[in-house]
Amino acid sequence: VGLSVTVVERDSVGSHASGYALGLLNPTNETGSIESLNHQSFIMHQEMLEVVEQESGVDVQVLTMPHIELALEESEIVTLKKECDRIAAFSNFTTNWLEPDEITRFDSRITREIYGGLLVEDVIAIDSYNFTLATAQAAESRGAEYVLREATGLVYDRDRVAGVMVGEDCINCGTVVLALGPWSGAASLWAGIDIPIVPQKGEILRLEGLNPRLDFHVHGFTLGSSCSILQKADGAVWLAATVQDDTGFDVTPSLDARESLVLRGTRMMPELEWQQMLLQTACMRPVTPDGDPIFGKIPDKEGVFIASGTGGQGILLAPVIGRAMADLISAG
Ligand SMILES: Cc1cc2nc3c(=O)[nH]c(=O)nc-3n(C[C@H](O)[C@H](O)[C@H](O)COP(=O)(O)OP(=O)(O)OC[C@H]3O[C@@H](n4cnc5c(N)ncnc54)[C@H](O)[C@@H]3O)c2cc1C
Repeated sequence: VGLSVTVVERDSVGSHASGYALGLLNPTNETGSIESLNHQSFIMHQEMLEVVEQESGVDVQVLTMPHIELALEESEIVTLKKECDRIAAFSNFTTNWLEPDEITRFDSRITREIYGGLLVEDVIAIDSYNFTLATAQAAESRGAEYVLREATGLVYDRDRVAGVMVGEDCINCGTVVLALGPWSGAASLWAGIDIPIVPQKGEILRLEGLNPRLDFHVHGFTLGSSCSILQKADGAVWLAATVQDDTGFDVTPSLDARESLVLRGTRMMPELEWQQMLLQTACMRPVTPDGDPIFGKIPDKEGVFIASGTGGQGILLAPVIGRAMADLISAG
C-alpha cells in the first residue's frame, strides 16, 4: 500500500511465541466472533505462502494434511458429530465421522481406546520460525526496515503521535502499531488506555520422528486439557501444548509440563512413549479477557493503533490482521 515501515524489535525476529508456536493453521477449530477471520486468513495463507517463500528464499516447510479430532470419551461423540455438520458448511473443507476401526485403519498407532473421531481435510502445518523469518525478509526486500532496539515510549505532538522512543533516540513517524505480544500491557501507559493483554505460558515437547511418518494432525481432549500430535516437515514429532495462566513472563520449561504432555500424547498414541525427547520449549500466548484479539485504532490518539492479543491463533491470523491494519492505516 506504499507505506514506509520500520519494525522495532528488542530481541530478534521470531525469538518468542511467533518462532516457537506449533504452526498449525486450522480455522475449523474455532467458533465465535473470529471464526470468519480465521477462515479468511487461512485462504490468505494458501495464497501467500509460496510468494513469501519465493521473495525471502526461506523454506516455510508447508505440509498439507488431514486433521483428526479424537473422541477419547463417549460423551464427546455427540459434540464431535455436531462439529462435523458445522465444519461441513465451509466449502473448502470436507469432514467425516470415523468409527474407531476406521481410525485404526487410518493409522494403527492410534490408541484403540477411542469412541471415534472427526476427520477434517485439509489443514496446513508450517514452521512458525521460518514463516516469521520469511515474512520479515520478504518485507525487508520490499523496503521495510528493522531496528533491533527496545521501544520505551511514544512521543506526541498534542494527541498526534510523532515518534517512538528507543532509549535516548526517537524514530520520527506519523503512525504507530503497538504489537508487543504478551508485553502489550506495558504500552498502556504510552497509549493512555488500559490494554488488557497478559501472557499465558505454553510448553511444547519435540520428540524424535516416527517411522513411517505420521501424515496427519491428531488432536484430543484428555486429562483435563487438549493435546496435539504433529510430525513436522523436518521429521520431529511435536506434542503441544500446555496452557498455564498467571505465571507472569516465565518461560522456563517445567517438569510438570513435560510429564503432562507425555501422558496426554501417549494416551492418544501409546508408542510415543519410546520416542526420545529432542527439545522442550516454553513461550507465551498474548491473551485477552474474552479470548478475542484486539486490533484497530486507539481512541483519543491520532495515529496510534494496536494489533495483538491473538492467543493461540496468532500464526493463523497474521495475514488477515496484517491486511486489516494496512487498510485501516492507508484508507482509514
Ligand atoms: C505453545 C504455543 C503454541 C502455539 N501454536 C499456535 C499454532 O499452532 N497456530 C497459531 O496460529 N498460533 C499458535 N500460537 C499462538 C501464536 O504463537 C501467537 O498468537 C503469536 O505468535 C503472537 O505473536 P505476537 O507477535 O503478538 O507476539 P510475539 O511472538 O511474542 O512477539 C512480540 C514481540 O514483541 C517484542 N517486544 C515486546 N516488547 C517490546 C519493546 N518494548 N520493544 C521492542 N520489541 C518488543 C518481543 O521481543 C517479541 O519479539 C501458539 C502459541 C503458543 C504459546
